[in-house]
Amino acid sequence: MKKRLSFYLLLFACLLLFFPSLYAADFCSVCGKEIHGNFLQNADSVIFCSKPCYEKTLPICSACGKTIRGKGLRQGDVYFCNNKCFEKTLPKCELCGKKVTTALTIENHIFCETCASFNRCFQCQLPFSNGRTLNDGRNICSVCAKEGVFLADRAERLYKLAANAVENITGFDLDPLPDLELIGIDKMKELAPLYDERIYSLRGTYHTETIKTTYSILGVQREKLHRKNRVLLLYGLTSRRIYVTSAHELTHHIIETRFPRLADDELWKQEGLCQYVAHIVALRKKFSECGDEIERYDDELYGKGFAWYIDKFGADNWHAVSQWLETMK
Ligand SMILES: [Zn+2]
Ligand SMILES: [Zn+2]
Ligand SMILES: [Zn+2]
Ligand SMILES: [Zn+2]
Ligand SMILES: [Zn+2]
Repeated sequence: MKKRLSFYLLLFACLLLFFPSLYAADFCSVCGKEIHGNFLQNADSVIFCSKPCYEKTLPICSACGKTIRGKGLRQGDVYFCNNKCFEKTLPKCELCGKKVTTALTIENHIFCETCASFNRCFQCQLPFSNGRTLNDGRNICSVCAKEGVFLADRAERLYKLAANAVENITGFDLDPLPDLELIGIDKMKELAPLYDERIYSLRGTYHTETIKTTYSILGVQREKLHRKNRVLLLYGLTSRRIYVTSAHELTHHIIETRFPRLADDELWKQEGLCQYVAHIVALRKKFSECGDEIERYDDELYGKGFAWYIDKFGADNWHAVSQWLETMK
């Protein structure tokens, strides 16, 4: 998300005229006292009995708290003595630490224009100065890289934990689990040609392939077909995302192996159920960033599908969902 915060500087000057007692004046506009002798009048013809009364009407610098006499700066309804005071109130760029007059807000973080143009991390979406480019071309900041899951055995452990969570929620036995593989975004895009990165982030996919094996018995060639199911996850995701994405992909496995009518139904209805289960997993584990993300999607596939299940059954209500699923066998 990009938002431009602009600061406008306006100059104003307080003009003050002194009138000797021979001019007629009535009451002080500040203290209300009747004026008999000398008095002061500002540029708007407002009159004052004395300098202290006049100074009470002057603006206060919102940085140092001093009364502004003479020239000052104005930004909307806020006043400053000078540029130095104004700069004290400016936000700092989170990367280079410089004060910024034109701040760019990305995911609620503030950056200067230069830093905002740096490479963005695929995970936290923020620009970074410390980080690296992965083999598949994705950029990752050093903070997210530290948390990222790159090793197969670490991913496997999280995948099995997620499988347990899905079994607990749905009551289905997931044994034998589909094989797990960590892949890059290049391979992921090949497997998901409908992917649109402007709408949602692709983190995993469930893949079914039919494998044909030929063998011969007594010289006669025979063929045997069998289905191989695999879950493919993006390497470098945080452990929480590996966990929640695993739950999503394993729900595809449940649909594929147990509910053929749903598997033949529209894609949004399948993705919606997968998001619904992933959402329960995120809620129960208190992975709020993952839960919020699922709620935020408003595309025609994930967003529409998830909203349909929430409207129909309410959040975290597997009991009602499972009764409806009986009609999808
Ligand atoms: Zn007065
Ligand atoms: Zn000041
Ligand atoms: Zn900066
Ligand atoms: Zn990051
Ligand atoms: Zn899916």
